[in-house]
Amino acid sequence: MNWTEERVATLRKLWAEGLSASQIAKQLGGVTRNAVIGKVHRLGLAGRATPSRPAKRPVRPARPRVVSPTAPRLRPAVTAPTVAMPELEPVRFEDGNTASVLTLNESMCKFPIGDPGDVNFAFCGRGSWGGHPYCQDHARLAYQPSQAKKRRAAGAPDELRRMLRMAAG
Ligand SMILES: [Zn+2]
Repeated sequence: MNWTEERVATLRKLWAEGLSASQIAKQLGGVTRNAVIGKVHRLGLAGRATPSRPAKRPVRPARPRVVSPTAPRLRPAVTAPTVAMPELEPVRFEDGNTASVLTLNESMCKFPIGDPGDVNFAFCGRGSWGGHPYCQDHARLAYQPSQAKKRRAAGAPDELRRMLRMAAG
């Protein structure tokens, strides 16, 4: 079998791509693995590092990239808004009234706004959120440990419960 220029070119290319001598022999056809090795030596192509493995290498660098997209999600998105939580105004209805024990219903936020003894006291009245008795903003506020403690110290929840009991009865 002849080493035509074309076959030599193919040999050089495949060898450069990292194929083993037996793989190259198969690609060329009509030539043995030993003949390929012999030709490689004559062409001075030998000395390639780890001839049987380089084909697999390009797969590895991709692995860290698979992990990285999930990392930014760990940002503390929940804690950020609670620091600067604005004092929400109670919702005003079309008649200008705010939610009271009389108008409050199951689908409304029951977060008390203001002093329960004050004439301006009202409930938030926004749509309740995800099965909570509060809207999303107030649910966040209510379940924040430090805020909850403060409110308990002020006695507001007890007063609220008493008022809700009155409304129910
Ligand atoms: Zn609310």
